[in-house]
Amino acid sequence: MIDLHTHSTASDGTLSPTALVRYAKERNLEALALTDHDTVEGLEEALAAGEREGLEVVPGIEISAEFPESTLHILGYYVDCACPAFLEKIAILQKARNERNPTIIKKLQALGLDITLEEVTVEAETGQVGRPHFAQVLIKKGYVKTPREAFDKYLAKGAPAYTDKFRFEPVDAIASIRRAGGIPVLGHPFTLKYKTPDELEAIVADMAGWGLMGIEAYYSEHSETQVRLYKDLAEKHNLLITGGSDFHGQSIKGISLGTGKGSLNVPYKCLEKLKARLKEVQKN
Ligand SMILES: [Zn+2]
Ligand SMILES: [Zn+2]
Repeated sequence: MIDLHTHSTASDGTLSPTALVRYAKERNLEALALTDHDTVEGLEEALAAGEREGLEVVPGIEISAEFPESTLHILGYYVDCACPAFLEKIAILQKARNERNPTIIKKLQALGLDITLEEVTVEAETGQVGRPHFAQVLIKKGYVKTPREAFDKYLAKGAPAYTDKFRFEPVDAIASIRRAGGIPVLGHPFTLKYKTPDELEAIVADMAGWGLMGIEAYYSEHSETQVRLYKDLAEKHNLLITGGSDFHGQSIKGISLGTGKGSLNVPYKCLEKLKARLKEVQKN
C-alpha cells in the first residue's frame, strides 16, 4: 500500500514532515508522497526522514488552479524543488495566501466575531496560515463545534467570510510543473462538480492537451463508480492513474493515512508506472 497525497505542517497538516514519514513507516506504507498546498518547503525534510527511516518518499506539491464554481487541484510529482523559476512561481501563490488572511479576519470581525490574525497564526505554528486554522480558532472560541461547521457557516466558498485568492489558470499550473521536471496529475476530479461524465472527459481532454499526465482515481472521497470512471478516462487518454488519502493529520477526522475512510488501497504499481513515465520525460 502507498499514499501519494498527504499534507504536513508545511501547509495545513498537523504532522511535521518527519513525523508524517515516521507515521507512514509505522503504518507499513511502501511509499509516501508529500503534496503540500502551493509549497515545497517540507520536501527536503521529508526526503531526509525517508532516507533515515527506510521509506520511499516521493516529492510533490498540490497547486490550486482557477476553475469556475468549483475546486481544481493539480498534483505535481517529482518537481525539482531547487528550480529557481518554479520557486519564483509558487512564491506568487504564497503571497496571495498571506494577503488573503487579513481580509478573512476583517470579514469575521464585521460579522461580530472576536478573532485576531495573531490567534490564527499561533494555531498554524510554523506552517502556512490557512482556513483550517481559522476553523480551529472558531471552535476554541465556541462559535462552531466542528471544522465542517466553520467552513459551512463562515469560510467556504459562498459563506460570508469567504475571500477569493489569486490562482493560476490550469494550463499555467500544468506547464509550471512540467517545466520543473514534474508529472502533473489532476487531483480528486469529483471536486470539479461536472454534471456528466462527458463534461469531465472534455475537461480532461483539454488538460491532456496542455500536458496533464495523470488522474488521481483513488481518493478517500471517491465512490467505486467514480474510481472506475476516472480509471477508464485515464486509460482512454493515455494518462497515469494515481491515488492517495489527502491525509492532513488530526485536523481532518475520519481520513487515515493510506486507507482513507477505510477502503482506500493504492497499489504500488501506480507509482511504478509514474516513475517509468518520469524516466521517459527525462530522456526527451
Ligand atoms: Zn486538493
Ligand atoms: Zn490535498
